This record gives sequence, C-alpha cells and structure tokens, in this order.
Amino acid sequence: MSRFRDASYLKSVYNPTELGESVAEVAFVGRSNVGKSTVLNAVCGRKELAKTSQTSGRTRTINVFHLGRNKWLVDLPGYGFAAGPKDDMRKFKMMLEGYLLSRPTLRLVVMLVDGNVGATNLDAGMAIWLQRRDIPYMVVANKCDKISASKQNDSRRGVANRLGMDIEEVRWISAEKGTGVSALANEIADILELT
Ligand code: GDP
Repeated sequence: MSRFRDASYLKSVYNPTELGESVAEVAFVGRSNVGKSTVLNAVCGRKELAKTSQTSGRTRTINVFHLGRNKWLVDLPGYGFAAGPKDDMRKFKMMLEGYLLSRPTLRLVVMLVDGNVGATNLDAGMAIWLQRRDIPYMVVANKCDKISASKQNDSRRGVANRLGMDIEEVRWISAEKGTGVSALANEIADILELT
C-alpha cells in the first residue's frame, strides 16, 4: 500500500503566518510550468490532488496536502512567471521567502527543474538562496521523457553542473510516464517518516 494513501487537500493560504503547525513537512518549489502539480499528483498516486494548471503562474497560493498524522506536503507558488505587475512579483517573493524562513518543521525542499530546458538562472538563484540559509533541499529534474535516450546523460550532467552538484544527486524523473517517481516518493516518505 502506498505510504501516501491518506493524501488529501487541506488548505490554501496567501500568508504563511496563517498556516498553523505541522508535525513535519516537505515543500515543493520550482519555476511555473515545470510540472509541479503533475509531480505532486504522481508522488501521491492521485490524478487530481493538485490541480494541473493550464496558464503558467496562475497558482499563487501556498497549498497544503495532508498525509496523515499532521504531516504535510506543501505546494509553493511557481517562481519566475512572466506575466503580472511588479508589485505582484514582490508580494509573491515575500510569500515564498516568508514560508521558507518560518517553518521549524520543514524537513526538505524539493526543487523541481525542467530536465529538458535545464537549470535556469532562476533555479540557480533559488539553490544559492537555500544554501545560504542552510535549508535542506533536493533537486529533481522532471520531463526526462522529452529527451532522447542518447542525450539523457548530458542533460542530467548539465543540470548538475549548473547547480554545483554530482550527477547522481540530481533525481531524474518523468511525472507523466512515471519514471523515477516511486523512488522519489519513497525518499520523501522516509524523510517524513510515513508508515
Ligand atoms: P506547474 O505549473 O509546475 O504546476 O506544472 P503542471 O503540473 O501544470 O504541468 C505543466 C505542463 O507540463 C502540463 O502541460 C503537463 O502535462 C506537462 N508535464 C508535467 N510533467 C511532465 C512530464 O514528466 N513530461 C512531459 N512531457 N510533460 C509534463
């Protein structure tokens, strides 16, 4: 039985101070359209848990999914959306940073990048920001199905180099095809001590 069998939507907030307390949580960040909703659904083994967005940058709330025993998966708004006034960008950045700096029970940030596009400057900036604050994070490259077999290794190495990591440290998945998803789900379940 899946360790995510009890996953259910809990709440959405604009302000991280409204979140309340969890026992433990893992948060997902990544550029808009990287496939964050699809990955969350795949990890939980549900099709419609996190809504897959059509327009990038539309989901700008912090969304919480309950996994049982007050353990959470937290879906943070996608960074780097192009549309929207500057003020919105600033508010949104404060929401993201406010969350990341205010959660004593945050055990891991899962940083999603697009394996096909590679790690962008925004992704690299996010990684450095997390490093400087000693916030543990893991890099997961999604959409690996878009890359031909002969280029998989080069693409993965490209992500690793850009983010200053070893190639094996970059998790390599396709949320759509399911590649690498159960290994990722198990890592997250271990970190949250799900039974
Ligand atoms: P979000 O904005 O980061 O939440 O991204 P979504 O989950 O809404 O996905 C954005 C788009 O990428 C959708 O059209 C998805 O179908 C697509 N997508 C997500 N994961 C994958 C994947 O592993 N492979 C491919 N080829 N497409 C994907």
